Amino acid sequence: MLPTTKLMLSIWDKNKHRVCSRYKWSPATPLKTLHTLDPSFNYKIWAEHDITHLHQLTQDGSLRSFKELQTHHNIPNRAQFSYMQLHHTLQTIDTPTQPVTGEPNLTHFETKCLDKKKQNKTISLCYNLLIGKPQTHLWGFQKEWHTDIGRELTPQEWGRAFLAHKSATRCASHLEIARKLLYRWHLTPSKLNKMYNNSEAKCWRCLKAKGDTLHIWWTCPLIRPVWEAVEEIVTNSTGVMIQPSIEIYLLHISPQNITKSVRKLVYLITIAASTLIARQWKSPEIPTKTEIIALASTNVSYEKFAGTLGQEDRTTTEAYNMWLQYEQATHITHRHTTHDPP
Ligand SMILES: [Zn+2]
Repeated sequence: MLPTTKLMLSIWDKNKHRVCSRYKWSPATPLKTLHTLDPSFNYKIWAEHDITHLHQLTQDGSLRSFKELQTHHNIPNRAQFSYMQLHHTLQTIDTPTQPVTGEPNLTHFETKCLDKKKQNKTISLCYNLLIGKPQTHLWGFQKEWHTDIGRELTPQEWGRAFLAHKSATRCASHLEIARKLLYRWHLTPSKLNKMYNNSEAKCWRCLKAKGDTLHIWWTCPLIRPVWEAVEEIVTNSTGVMIQPSIEIYLLHISPQNITKSVRKLVYLITIAASTLIARQWKSPEIPTKTEIIALASTNVSYEKFAGTLGQEDRTTTEAYNMWLQYEQATHITHRHTTHDPP
């Protein structure tokens, strides 16, 4: 083996997790190579039935049952011993760490490598993967938000949505309400209708449109005043015009051109609105502007109090001062709501 080959193999070992599956043995491994680990392993019996690579025998990192393989590939009974050898060999060399249900058997890279038409272009393939757009897995809730928003959020925007609470709040309940909304956890009428036939799918407020997540939280004509009030509070307290959008108001993906202190205040106000909407779930009543301001005041004061236990940075103090000025300008007497912290 050339010294350069050894070096390249060690680089491959360090980086293969970026393009291959999480298992030590790639599901793209040809069965023929298992012969080197167990010389008595008869791979030809599998090749006779067009099974040439490991991924054809596995699912979610585990070997399919022999019965399942017999049903799908017409494998004869005489292959059972070879199957047991394979089972033993795989257990010896690699116990899958954490099988993930639904994870594709082969990664994008492995699929390309097994594409017979492209076998002569592996180097080009590697370069394309390095310079091309990374393949990211989208969860169901992300796809549903994309449909509702009408565009695909970038991985960076999703990253900001997941980390929005950092430096904005210390309250676990805020994180909980934000995550529940992000994962579309709330049971809307349309979801309940799918679960129970006798449950009405229409919105409980307007009694007209289908009560899905987008409608209940955003487009229902009766919920719009809440977000208009939030826009007014945000503009008057921060001095920055922030157009209402699902991205900013529901997913907390703040625009990047606003300061950290404005971002913190926007988070505390919008989370107050979301908390109140969730508290009045299934009620035709909607939160009033006064209620939103009162809860936002509580959020700010708890944040301020929690801040006294540690070291506050300058931007955080700016956010509190902005809110204090807003309270004074609108003649709001600061008071805690009768509720516990949201
Ligand atoms: Zn409605």
